[in-house]
Order: sequence, then structure tokens, then C-alpha cells
Amino acid sequence: MAEVIQPVRGMNDVLPDKAPLWDRVEATAANLFAGYGYQRVRLPVLERTELFSRSIGELTDIVEKEMYTFDDRNGESVTLRPEATAGVVRAGLSNGLLHNQQQKLWCSGPMFRREKPQKGRYRQFHQLSVEALGFAEPEIDAELIALSARLWRELKLTSAKLQLNSIGTLESRQGYKQKLVEYFSAHRELLDEDSLRRLDRNPLRILDSKNPALQQLIADAPLLSGYLDDESRAHFDRVQQLLTDVGVEFTLNPRLVRGLDYYSRTVFEWLTDRLGSQSAICSGGRYDGLVAQLGGRDTPAVGWALGIERIVEVLEVEGRAGSALEADAHLVVAGEAERRYGFKLAEQLRDRVPGLKLWIGGPAGGFKAQLRRADRSGARFALIVGESELSAGKVSVKPLREDKPQQLLSVEECAALLAERRSA
Ligand code: ATP
Ligand code: MG
Repeated sequence: MAEVIQPVRGMNDVLPDKAPLWDRVEATAANLFAGYGYQRVRLPVLERTELFSRSIGELTDIVEKEMYTFDDRNGESVTLRPEATAGVVRAGLSNGLLHNQQQKLWCSGPMFRREKPQKGRYRQFHQLSVEALGFAEPEIDAELIALSARLWRELKLTSAKLQLNSIGTLESRQGYKQKLVEYFSAHRELLDEDSLRRLDRNPLRILDSKNPALQQLIADAPLLSGYLDDESRAHFDRVQQLLTDVGVEFTLNPRLVRGLDYYSRTVFEWLTDRLGSQSAICSGGRYDGLVAQLGGRDTPAVGWALGIERIVEVLEVEGRAGSALEADAHLVVAGEAERRYGFKLAEQLRDRVPGLKLWIGGPAGGFKAQLRRADRSGARFALIVGESELSAGKVSVKPLREDKPQQLLSVEECAALLAERRSA
């Protein structure tokens, strides 16, 4: 036999046992996004490499080590997108959606980062993300965060805790940067290779290091909060006020800087204690400078992204996964003529009961085997078609989850019963 081809490391299949939960997460989010006025866009997975090096930042882990970058056949360097925001801004600019306009957009799809695969960390993973472009007011930061809090409530995800910070504007960070360079330079011997490289040009990145050996040094570093400009301070106060007004709890984390260079002012992360060290399930912030950095006019913007794999894993750990897809009813037929009648019956019931989950099963098999299959499907009812049902043009409805007698019903009666029990 030929050897089976294995998937690429860190790239997973989502199989039927998990797919329904993925669908639920995506559908719940899609409904909320629409409810807050966000419109969906679908963007390419492949972009010019420069898009990411210019936006995410040359000295970030993503751009330095994690991107899937290769030359296209014409020699142009292209990259599998490691995140969504740069692509959304690029699409906004290349399609003229950002000039004197506001846009609320969302998208979903695979992202690619060549990280060390482990639980909650993969090389292909999936994000749902929202971006509000052209909005400067703190209301929109708060609204986006409130939207994420509502999503956890609707998904019944209870372990998410919000951390919040403001990193001010690019200008206001200059003084702080200097202070950081001084501090880290004084402890040069403790820095790792990455940090030494970043020390002069981008010392803020060191604060985002995941190297355990650096954590104490980082914890003792001077804080950015002392350097916030007045406007950023007022903006941040207002975001906190609005969140408090609507009951979204948060803790301030003055060390939170986020791993991408384009952020300004509000940054936040939703963390869980259920996934070991992969604790961030959703993160984002304001990125007022990015549109200009990518060639547009100054355009304030804010957004976030969540990792679907991590959300699904948390829901499973919290016991919120629910059961896989279950049928409302399962057909059971006695023979060939009954099978044909049953096929038509199933279509008639689907016409009459929108959203009905009616499974007709595979090859008929024996009567007993079909009933067992009906039971395993989780269905409330077996719809039985034997000789007598066929000749009467009816169907026997057998409750599978309660001790009640089987009933002989017409198509209309059966449809009415199924419709009623579905909404029950
Ligand atoms: P982390 O600190 O865990 O590396 P991050 O700050 O790099 O996360 P973002 O770039 O903000 O993450 O991406 C947004 C979300 O995407 C994260 O909160 C997380 O849920 C998810 N995510 C990021 N990287 C991965 C990955 N390699 N595998 C699975 N999910 C991921
Ligand atoms: Mg990361």
C-alpha cells in the first residue's frame, strides 16, 4: 500500500466531532457583528510581504521569525497572512473605502504563523476579527470591547477576564522609549539575543517577550503610564467609564503592550486560566497610525481578533461544548417501497417545518439496526414507515426519549407535532 500523506505540522483538520461547535461560535459572532453594524468582507490569504513588514513591524516575532514568506513565480515576495488587520486596511485603501468614510468591517479565516505548535498554538489557526475604521471616539473602543463581552455571555464562556491598558500615542511614547532604553541598557547582561537586537530601535518589544528568564526584569521596568499625554489619558478614562457603566469588568495592566507595533492608546486582552500558557483568547486595540503608515490619510481605527481554536478549547474545558449535531427525527423504513415513500415523506416534512433536522440514514439495513441508528442520532422521534403506513399514506411516530405510545399520523399531523416539539 502507498504511504499515507501526513498533514503539515501545526495545521489541523476540523472534523465532524468539532465542526458543530466551530459553527456555533462563528454563527453567534456573525449575528452580534451584524447587530452592532459590522459588515463582512472576505480578503485574500496571500498578500505582498511588504504589507506585513510595514504594518506589524520589522522587529516583531511575527515578521522576524514566523511568517510563511516565499517568492511567487515572478520573483515577487508574498506572505500567507499572519493576522487580519493589515489586510483589511490594505483592502480599504486599495478599494477607496476609507477616504472621508467610516467603515465597520469584520472577517474570518485562517492565519499562518510558524510558531512552535502546542495546545492552543498552531501554525494555521483561525480568527474572527472586527475593525472600526474612521472612528476616533472612545465610545467605539468601549463598544467593541462590550461586543466581545456580550459574545462570551452568549457562548456561555465564563473564564474570560479583561485586561486593559493605554499605550498613548507614538509621540508620547518617545520619552518613555528613552527611559526604557536606559533601564534595559543598565541590565544588558540579562537580556537575550532578541532583546539586545530590539534594544535601541524598539525597546517596547522587550516588554512583550515571552522568555521566562526576562520576566522579573520586565516586571521591574519603568511604567508607561507616567508618560501618557493628556488626550490619551482623557480617552482612556472615558473608555473605562463607559465600560463600568455597562458592567464590563476589567483590570488595568500597565505592562500590556501587545505584540504588534501599530497600536496606539487603548490595548486590551481577554485572558483565560483554562488553556495553560496560551491564555489570550481575544486581543486588540486602537491603531490610529496604521492607515497612514500604509499610504492612506490619517484615519483613526480600532479593532480586535479572537482565535477560534482557543475559544472552542475553552468552551470544551468549561463543559459548554454541548452535544454534536442532533437530529429532531430519524426515518426508519421496512422495505424498498417504504424506502421510496419515506424519501418523499421526508421532503414533505422539510417543506412544512423550516430548519427541521430530519435524517434518513444510510442503507436501510434491518429494522432493529435502523432503530438503533435513530436512537444514536439523538432524535426525539423515529418516523416509522412499514407496510400498513405505506398503504394508509401515513407515518408512525415513535417517541425515543420518553415513555409514550407510538402514534399513527398523517403528514400534516406529523409536521405539526415536529414543529411544536422543535420550539418546545
Ligand atoms: P499570544 O500572546 O498567545 O502569542 P498574540 O498576541 O500573538 O497571542 P494576536 O496576534 O493578538 O495574538 O491574535 C489574536 C488572537 O489569535 C489571540 O488572542 C489568540 O486567541 C489567537 N492566536 C494567536 N496566535 C495563535 C496561534 N499560533 N494559534 C492559535 N491561536 C492563536
Ligand atoms: Mg503570538
